[in-house]
Amino acid sequence: MGESFSFQTKLLHNRWKMDEHTGAVSVPVQHASTFHQADFDTFGKYDYSRSGNPTREALEATIAELEGGVRGFAFSSGMAAISTAFLLLSKGDHVLVTEDVYGGTYRMITEVLSRFGIEYTFVDMTDLHEVASHIRPNTKVIYIETPSNPLLKITDIRGIVKLAKANGCLTFLDNTFMTPALQRPLDLGVDVVLHSATKFLAGHSDVLAGLAVVKDEELAKRLYKLQNAFGAVLGVQDAWLVLRGLKTLHVRLKQSSQTALEIAQFFAKHPKVEEVYYPGLSHHAGHSIHRYQASGFGAVLSFRLADEEAVRTLVKHVKIPVFAVSLGAVESILSYPAKMSHAAMPKEEREKRGITDGLLRLSVGLEAADDLIADFDEALSYVKTRPEAVSR
Ligand SMILES: *Cc1c(COP(=O)(O)O)cnc(C)c1O
Repeated sequence: MGESFSFQTKLLHNRWKMDEHTGAVSVPVQHASTFHQADFDTFGKYDYSRSGNPTREALEATIAELEGGVRGFAFSSGMAAISTAFLLLSKGDHVLVTEDVYGGTYRMITEVLSRFGIEYTFVDMTDLHEVASHIRPNTKVIYIETPSNPLLKITDIRGIVKLAKANGCLTFLDNTFMTPALQRPLDLGVDVVLHSATKFLAGHSDVLAGLAVVKDEELAKRLYKLQNAFGAVLGVQDAWLVLRGLKTLHVRLKQSSQTALEIAQFFAKHPKVEEVYYPGLSHHAGHSIHRYQASGFGAVLSFRLADEEAVRTLVKHVKIPVFAVSLGAVESILSYPAKMSHAAMPKEEREKRGITDGLLRLSVGLEAADDLIADFDEALSYVKTRPEAVSR
């Protein structure tokens, strides 16, 4: 049903709009862990909730449809989804990973997968030549995040997919920042799309969840087996919360993205802001590639002040955004990568990647743009002007 509907309409009018038994217009939450088998010899569709549950299935089918895949999988967190996908690898395999990968994924690869004999190389994914030069005979996966965190670097998805296919590797893409509302990686040839549904998909800072979607039936079978074997499945109450959040995904992202652009433009003109990172700014590196592969710029931006003292002053005076880790919620969230997402990275390594002590990340919520801009304008007025330009 609804193949011809636009994305916005599909969020509401899909196979799950009414419960077929009762007509209920909300997916029933099926708490049962086990299911009675009416016949001694043939088991029904469901037997045990780790292997399959109707509420989780509603979410899995919904995300598969939205991403244009054949099958979706719901996990207890974004990291559970990502870690389970990595279980497709075996000892001796090599994975190429974007150098500004999400911190939890960095930890999983360097501290856990490495113990199981899986090799890795971090590369600048924005440079196709560099990526090509690091592909080895045992490279099995190229792992992409675009836009990346926190500098919103853009990777050419089609370019990487082409390289991967020519070398017999799979591509994984963490689509958390864009969601299928703005970017549909499976349509561009990516093999596995991953999500922290904790962020924009659920959207209300009230649930942890992860999703994976694939387009290939054979890969779907392998991933299903791993989901069931590893067992980090999403609980039904949480699956329902993600389904609830998804209904407003389009309108939330549309509003937040518009406000993000306005804030980015405000920061770009502000004398105390040294740099702004937002794919929607025409001077942003990768702006045109991003426009070519996505239909919007998203609700996350980063900006750089002079130093830690400037950041402290801003954070002390800003009133609207919550100061916290995470992103993708109805309320704006201001984060400090140096002490939050990238705290584990040595300072020198961090600065080399542009994550300096003056960098802040803002995930824009649904507050009025004018209120947010006025709030930042006021808070910035307390920030001291940099005495002299310091080379970075
Ligand atoms: C938050 C996040 C994750 C991890 O997801 P959890 O739900 O916190 O486990 C992975 N990738 C990106 C880009 C994220 O922002």
